[in-house]
Amino acid sequence: MAIAASCRASYPLNRSELERRHGAYARERKIVAAIGYTPFLLLYVLVHTRLLRPYMPASPHATAAVLILLPGAWLGMLVLLQRWVGPIRHRLRCPGCRRGMVGMRYQHALDSAQCDACGTTVIANPPIAD
Ligand SMILES: [Zn+2]
Repeated sequence: MAIAASCRASYPLNRSELERRHGAYARERKIVAAIGYTPFLLLYVLVHTRLLRPYMPASPHATAAVLILLPGAWLGMLVLLQRWVGPIRHRLRCPGCRRGMVGMRYQHALDSAQCDACGTTVIANPPIAD
């Protein structure tokens, strides 16, 4: 509760602070992606060695399924976890509706200074329209 209250108290942000927080979130996404893709490479390499070949199913289709589904499930789990936890960690959730301001919502917030879902002002000094 104290974290949520402090998060709400910090909004509306300066534009540069929102960009800094989103930059940290984007860097973390790259690290998560690298960790997520590693099992694809590792399993692919290990299955061609004597280390994993005895444990692979006899059917090539089943082997392909193991090589795709297991690392795919790992990657999917990491991506979903980061989408859920990332905006909380980097304080990128809208103070009004608690949705993460990432991706298209982040771009909308930069363009309009408001949350696209609930209209809460998230940037203190919106840019002057052309
Ligand atoms: Zn909102």
